[in-house]
Formats: sequence, C-alpha cells, structure tokens
Amino acid sequence: MATVPAFTSTDDVVHYINGATTRGASTRKQPIFNPATGETARALLLGEIADVDAAVASARAAFPAWRDTPPIRRARVMLKFLQLMNRHRDELASIITAEHGKVFSDAQGEVSRGIDVIEFACGIPQLLKGDYTEQVSTGMDNWTTRQPLGVVAGITPFNFPCMVPCWMFPVAIAAGNAFILKPSERDPSAALFMAGLLKQAGLPDGIFGVVQGDRVVVDALLAHRQVAAVSFVGSTPVANYIYETGAKHGKRVQALGGAKNHMVVMPDADIEQAVDALIGAGYGSAGERCMAISVALLVGDVADKVVPLLAERAKQLKIGNGMQPNAEMGPIVTRQALERVEEFIASGVDEGAKLIVDGRGYKVPGHEEGFFTGGTLFDHVTPDMRIYKEEIFGPVLACVRVKNFTEAVDLINEHEFGNGVACYTRDGHIAREFGRRIEVGMVGINVPIPVPMAWHGFGGWKRSLFGDVHAYGEEGVRFYTKQKSIMQRWPESTEKGAEFAMPTAK
Ligand code: NAD
Repeated sequence: MATVPAFTSTDDVVHYINGATTRGASTRKQPIFNPATGETARALLLGEIADVDAAVASARAAFPAWRDTPPIRRARVMLKFLQLMNRHRDELASIITAEHGKVFSDAQGEVSRGIDVIEFACGIPQLLKGDYTEQVSTGMDNWTTRQPLGVVAGITPFNFPCMVPCWMFPVAIAAGNAFILKPSERDPSAALFMAGLLKQAGLPDGIFGVVQGDRVVVDALLAHRQVAAVSFVGSTPVANYIYETGAKHGKRVQALGGAKNHMVVMPDADIEQAVDALIGAGYGSAGERCMAISVALLVGDVADKVVPLLAERAKQLKIGNGMQPNAEMGPIVTRQALERVEEFIASGVDEGAKLIVDGRGYKVPGHEEGFFTGGTLFDHVTPDMRIYKEEIFGPVLACVRVKNFTEAVDLINEHEFGNGVACYTRDGHIAREFGRRIEVGMVGINVPIPVPMAWHGFGGWKRSLFGDVHAYGEEGVRFYTKQKSIMQRWPESTEKGAEFAMPTAK
C-alpha cells in the first residue's frame, strides 16, 4: 500500500553531469506521460552529442582519483548509498509508479531488488581480491589483479527504471569506474533521483552521470572513443544493434534483449500453485517484465483443469491506478504500446487461437484516458502463430497444449529467445532433467520468475543476450574490470645473461 504521496512534479527532466543537474545543449523535448491518466505529466530534455561529450569529459577527469581510492573506501560510499536507498525506497517507488504505471507494491519490489545489487557491490574489496602464486619460478612470484576499465556506459529499458540501472552502476562504480547512464525516455526520473542520492552518499562529481535522450545519445556513447564498455538492456533488435555497433568501435559490450518465457505445467503439478504462478507471472506488471511468463505449456490433460481456472482469475484481476491500494495490475506504459498489445490480440484471433478472455477496450472508471487493457487469455495457441513467436510485452497469456514433457522441452529449445523458463512438477526426475536439458539462461523449478539474486548474475541465452557475460554478480565484476597479471623477481637472483628459449619454471 502506498505510504507516500503520488509523484506529481511538473519540472522538466534534465541531465546530471559533473555532479549537478543541467539542461546542457538540449533544445529538443519529449512528453512524459502518466499512463494511469493518459495525461502529459512533465517533459524530458533530449540530449545531444555535446551532452555526451560533456559527461564523458567529466567522467574522464574524475576517474583517476576514484580508481586510486582504496576499494574499501569506495565500498563505504556504496554503503552510504545503500542506506539512503533504503530510506527513500517508497519515494522512488512512487516515481516509478507515476511514470511506468506498475502498482506501488511492485515498484517497491523493484527498488528492493535494485538495492540487493547495491548491497552486493558493498563487498567489492573481497570481489577484487586477485590470485597469487608464490614461487612460480625460483625467486619469482606471479599475481593477477582486476583493474577498472575507465568510463563505462549503461543504456536501460522502461520496464525497470530503478532495478536495471542498479544491475549496472553500483558494481561498475564500486569496481572503480566512472559510469554514464542513458535511461529510458519514458520513465527517466528515477535515474535523476538516484543521482541525487549518490551525491549525498559522497560520490565524487563526474563518477556518475545521466544523459537523457534517444538514439542520438545512444549512438554518441557507442561511437565515443573514451567509453570503454557498454551495458544494454532492452528489446532484441536494439540489443543486436548495440552489440554490433559497440564491437565495431572496439568496446566491451553486454546487451540483454527480449524474451518469450514459457512455463511448463506437468500433469502431476499442484494445480492451484501453478495457476497462482501463471496469474502472477503472466499479468503482474501488466506483463511488461522480461521475466514475465507469456506462454503456458500445458502437458497431457492438464489444460482442461488449468484453463478454466485461469479464465476465472484473469477476469477478476483488480486493474487500476498503481497508487490505488489493492490494485494488482496497472496500465501499459504508453498509448502506442497499448495499441501494439491490442494488435497482437487481434492477430491471435485472426490466426485461429481461441480467445478465452479478451482484455481489449478495458476502462477504469475515473481514468478513461489511461492506457489500460485487461488480462487476455488464449487457448489452443500453436507455434506458428505470431502471439507464440513474438514478444508481446503485455498482459496476454498464451496456452499451448502439448502431449508430453519432451514436446514441451523441444518447443522451448527451438524458440528464438531463452531468457527465463519455469517448470511446475512434483517429480524430482522431471525437474532435474528439465534443468539440465533446457536451453534457457534462468530456470525456475516451481518458481515462476527465477530472477537470480544479486550474487548469482542475470542473463538469458540465445537472442535474449548478446555478449559473453551476465549482468551483476561476479560476472558483472568481471565485465567492469580487466585482468592484469604481474610477475615479479627481486635482484638477489644470481642469474645472468640473455635467455632465448621460452622461459619455464626453474
Ligand atoms: P527498447 O529496446 O525500446 O529501449 C531500450 C533502450 O534503448 C532505451 O534506453 C531506448 O532509448 C534505447 N533505444 C530504443 N530504440 C533505439 C534505437 N533504435 N537505437 C538506439 N537506442 C535505442 O526497450 P524498452 O521498450 O524500453 O524495454 C522493453 C524491452 O526490454 C523488452 O523487449 C524486454 O524484454 C526487454 N528487457 C530485457 C531484459 C533482460 O534482462 N533481458 C530486462 C528488461 C527488459
């Protein structure tokens, strides 16, 4: 339940460069909507190349001193930031609800999952400890250290305006880098709020910057010679573009893309638990989660039990303004996104899927102009349909009936995406086989949304992730640092003379 007032600022959303908010070189603006009312709430300044240049210059200037700050002192800044994030969690959640639309309790959950990563980053001294071998050769030692890359950038999607940036910047900054964030243009205020908290926590100016905007800013970051690495989270076509363009410019890139997450329900599963899981993971956050379940693979005769229960529950979803207590599902982020979701529903009907619950045209009294749609449920969906193949990113659950476990596994493995997946069963052997055979990066056994905890790392397979390492966790530390190996010998050694053979241990 909301414990803070709704976020109603009408101020333009600006950049944050060199420790201060600024309008920079921006002249272009774009409206930011309140999706629950459909009204324009405030405007966003769209950055220009000059704004990226200014942010990189300030980050470059601040980097050497921050890199040389002992990791434990960097961790103490993170610890202070962690305390401030905990203190301001609900304010941040209300900002998220105002611009994204998700219900307040879900926004609180998002902030908490972001905070988990900050907590992880507080352990950076332990994570940066290198390896050491004494006496690799007589009188010689060898050790490895991990050093920061320099200026790194993050480009983030609308659906988690706090959590996804937190997958990136706490780890990057704690590891000694300077970080520039390009938030989503649809809900950019959370990033500015966090910038203010980082300043209060004592982070030196220039180490965290925010450049607001669109593709102009993204392209300027990708092309900038002094940006060493780019982390991206968003849709697959853009992830692919970021990966290729970043690599062309010699950058390290991790680009997390879209998803189409399946949940298998085996005939032996606890049906009530499976239905709860499908309702929460299919319709929570209006399906605008990269880990949302959008396909239910119903094995054997399970569909005849599950579909009627899903239909009943989908019709009863409490849909409304996210700040309203008891709301279970809020609006879609923009009118354009809403129209896209409803077009997908029409395509499912055209292609012959059975529409069990139709969420189109849903109206919330008092919020007639809000971007609402109801929960939609399809049965008898087949793998050739667009609603099966493509990411809808809305509250649309597609039920596919399959004969057996093998058919379910094959379908999942053949799908272009491989972000998250779940299997509901009470059979340990099935569960084990599922975990081993499934070609998906994050797997839940009786867990519908298996978003890994902060120290495990997040990432999909196939076209859900371009790059080699996952976000946050130890993979994140590796992404934001480069390994250096140092060999050392002191002159007590009596060896003399040039050696022309490959050196070996003596
Ligand atoms: P999006 O790809 O439209 O935008 C993501 C970011 O890229 C934004 O900052 C946007 O400004 C920028 N961008 C958009 N188009 C661009 C272009 N042509 N060139 C350069 N930059 C561009 O994604 P979205 O709609 O904000 O977010 C939803 C998508 O993100 C879904 O596909 C969802 O699955 C995905 N997502 C994936 C994960 C994951 O971990 N795999 C997590 C969250 C969201």
